[in-house]
Amino acid sequence: MTQLVCIVCPNGCRLTINNDGENIEVLGGKCPKGKAYAVTEMTNPTRSVTTTVKTVFPEAGVLPVRTNGEIPKAKIFDFMKVINCFVLDKRVKRGEVVLQNVLDSGIDVIATSNMLQK
Ligand code: SF4
Repeated sequence: MTQLVCIVCPNGCRLTINNDGENIEVLGGKCPKGKAYAVTEMTNPTRSVTTTVKTVFPEAGVLPVRTNGEIPKAKIFDFMKVINCFVLDKRVKRGEVVLQNVLDSGIDVIATSNMLQK
């Protein structure tokens, strides 16, 4: 038996998961999203990544960014290695892609803030 708090919405339902290796039973959720969340957590947990990238612009040395989708938790370290090695050399607006298709995952890194125009 495993217990999790569902983080899909602010209700934060406490989920009890019974996994016998073939079937995953989820109790305690107020809606079906809780079961989907619990099954993903038990089989292939994923997360969005929110971080910053370095830039070449002295007045804005870092830019806040996030992934535009969720990535497997097991790949977050490799994602961060790519993001931490990257230096942005063009000005971007919020929502613009900063890094495309990171590690062939289909997931992009996008700006979450506007850079000031010079
Ligand atoms: S189970 Fe449904 S209602 Fe409960 S926290 Fe998850 S999404 Fe929200």
